[in-house]
Amino acid sequence: MTRSIALVAHDALKDRMVDWASAHKSQLDGWKIYATGTTGGRIIDGTGLEVERLKSGPLGGDAQIGALIAEERLHGLIFFIDPLSAMPHDVDVKSLLRLAIHYDVPMAVSPSSATAVLDYLTKED
Ligand code: PGA
Repeated sequence: MTRSIALVAHDALKDRMVDWASAHKSQLDGWKIYATGTTGGRIIDGTGLEVERLKSGPLGGDAQIGALIAEERLHGLIFFIDPLSAMPHDVDVKSLLRLAIHYDVPMAVSPSSATAVLDYLTKED
C-alpha cells in the first residue's frame, strides 16, 4: 500500500515547509503527497517532489484533507500552523485538527515535530 501524507503551511511558514520538505526529500520520495494549493505549488517548485495539489486551504483544501482522514486514506499530517496570526479560516484549521486527533493520524505542527513524525512513519513502513 502506498503511504500517504499531507503537507500544509500557513503563509508565514511556507518557506520553512519548503526547507523541511527539501531536507527530507529522500524520505518523502515514493510517498503519495497531498498538499493544499499554495503550499503544494511551493513544494513542487522548491523540491521537485510529486505532489497532488488540493484547493487552497481557505477555499476548502483543509476540508479536503479532513475528508481524506475521515475516509482513512491519510497516514500522516504535517501542518505548520502560524501561531501569531488570526486566520479567516480558523474554523477549518480546528476541524482538520479535530479529525486528525479523532482518527489518531500522526500529526506534526512544526519542523522538529514533523521530522519526528516522518521518522516514526518511515519506521512503520
Ligand atoms: P494554502 O493553504 O497552502 O493554499 O496557502 C494553507 C492554509 O492556509 O490552510
